[in-house]
Amino acid sequence: MSKPVIKLVHSRFPNEISAVEVTRATESCISCGTCANVCPFGVHERKPGHNRISRPQSHLCIGASCEDMSFYCVNHCPRKALSIGTNQNYKTIGDHRWTRDLILGTWKQAETGMPLKGREYEIGDSGGGFDRMAFKFLHARVTDAIDDDAISTEIDLNKRAGRRICIDVPFYGGGMSFGSISLSVMLARAKAARAWGTFTCTGEGGFPAELQEYDENVITQVATGLFGVSEDTIQRVKIVELKYAQGAKPGLGGHLLGDKVTAEVARLREAVPDSSLFSPFPFHSVYSVEDHEKHVDWIKEINPDAIISVKVSTARDVDMVAVGSYYAGANIIHLDGSYGGTGAAPEIAKKNIAMPIEYAITKVHECLKEEGVREEMTVIASGGIRTAHDAAKAIALGADGVVTGTAELVALGCVRCGSCESGRGCPRGIATTDPELAKAVDVDWGAQRLINLYAAWRSEIVMILRRLGMSSIKELVGRYDCLSYEGQSKGPRRGI
Ligand code: SF4
Ligand code: SF4
Repeated sequence: MSKPVIKLVHSRFPNEISAVEVTRATESCISCGTCANVCPFGVHERKPGHNRISRPQSHLCIGASCEDMSFYCVNHCPRKALSIGTNQNYKTIGDHRWTRDLILGTWKQAETGMPLKGREYEIGDSGGGFDRMAFKFLHARVTDAIDDDAISTEIDLNKRAGRRICIDVPFYGGGMSFGSISLSVMLARAKAARAWGTFTCTGEGGFPAELQEYDENVITQVATGLFGVSEDTIQRVKIVELKYAQGAKPGLGGHLLGDKVTAEVARLREAVPDSSLFSPFPFHSVYSVEDHEKHVDWIKEINPDAIISVKVSTARDVDMVAVGSYYAGANIIHLDGSYGGTGAAPEIAKKNIAMPIEYAITKVHECLKEEGVREEMTVIASGGIRTAHDAAKAIALGADGVVTGTAELVALGCVRCGSCESGRGCPRGIATTDPELAKAVDVDWGAQRLINLYAAWRSEIVMILRRLGMSSIKELVGRYDCLSYEGQSKGPRRGI
């Protein structure tokens, strides 16, 4: 297994949003330096050659847990100049699904590569689905004789005849096009995928030349608009994804606003700059399993070794779609549930059209089993996989692995503001094609943040497997008995 180096990589913003805010009353402070001497976390610092103590680094503070410690700076300050409260910016981020703790937890994992302890970093506050499921560890045998590296998180992306493709971690990066995200984000994702021996997907927007050195770890997408699709892009990769629909907006297709269609985006998509681009729904050449088979044959004709992934939204009959995809010759059925998508997906569509991914996975897993073809089909789930715990639960429900999307953007500093499609796009340089805004993300910085996030996720998955007495992620597939439903949420909701 390739195991990349984990390095500490801080936020790229000078004012990192944290849960707590340490305030120093400058009119009272005499810069005695006591706080800098007592705090073991480096919240207070007197920079060399400076008389005054620097502004507190609040994101390093452990907050209320510090109150009982002998080094609690507030108690030591002779001028009573220090106070610790809640960061007002922290209060403004998050929603029921992506609570502020999940956002901050993802940032922390991307920074350190370490898993975090605490329920608030495992689940959101949606009141259903993954947020109301828990693993039943109580009576499980614990795998303790072997070290973490010996617990396998490897999955097969092709279980049928043909090229064997294994990935070292049970997740890969989902389709995000050049147009929806910046080139630097695409490159950071590809670099991290290569480091971990997994994949990232181009989405429907073409294959920028800079991405070509990562061919071995890139999935190219063929979607309904056929933007950026050429024989070359299909031939250069190991996996081709046929995207029929997206869980966040099934039945609606894709829409890239004219503001984001720069000259470069237009060139790759063979379109006109500044004009909005639509990917229709559905493929107007596919209305049956036979039509679907023709599509698979078309890809195989161009690249006979290609592994075919079929990405579908979780409509009511998704189980039959999965069986149809098997008979059409696909290797992977990629189920995209309703919770995913960037701020470009309309909320009304996200919340009301597709089936939540938790239901769809089990429906498909059981149907493929009944058909006797489950062992030949790889089931991948996406659309709302926020944490390693979500990933493990999806696998226990019957998926072989998962696809990440939003979690990667959050690792790169996304605050879930939902402005991905407004004007020039993301002010944080993530979901933008504006060359100036895109400069805010450095490729190496971004790749290391993602490498760290994957490391933290792998550690958490290994921890779960260990506590369940398993030595391979493959043992967890379809183990509903390892999960319990926690019932309706009681008490006040968190993180909103
Ligand atoms: S201990 Fe209090 S007075 Fe001394 S530097 Fe820190 S905040 Fe200022
Ligand atoms: S921070 Fe950027 S990527 Fe995240 S939601 Fe806002 S605009 Fe979209």
